[in-house]
Amino acid sequence: MGRPEVRTYTTLGGEVRSVAVGPPKRRAPKKPRADGLSATQALTKRNNDTLAAGRHPATGLRLAPYGATCGACAHHQAYEYHSKTYHKCELHRLGQSHSSASDVRVGWPACMAFKAEERA
Ligand code: SF4
Repeated sequence: MGRPEVRTYTTLGGEVRSVAVGPPKRRAPKKPRADGLSATQALTKRNNDTLAAGRHPATGLRLAPYGATCGACAHHQAYEYHSKTYHKCELHRLGQSHSSASDVRVGWPACMAFKAEERA
């Protein structure tokens, strides 16, 4: 292996900087999870297990007994991004992050914080 190439550039502020440019560092291969599931599969399983236990994955609250779903809740938010729709909950325990971990499903049973959407 040779020495890394050094490139010099001038910033918009007029500073001259040098950076070493080399081949990309190799990352260690990801270790497979003990359960053999991908991260997405594990998240889905965790959400399904939480629902089966009578708790809502988003808020951690008990499931509402009256058959409503997150899609009909006033706390449900739908965001369009790159022709996809992401469903979030204003009360999610993780906040409204850009992670799929904070997504909700419109068909999930509602939690006890359910608030009926007002219709115009
Ligand atoms: S029912 Fe409403 S408050 Fe409860 S998790 Fe679903 S969207 Fe959020």
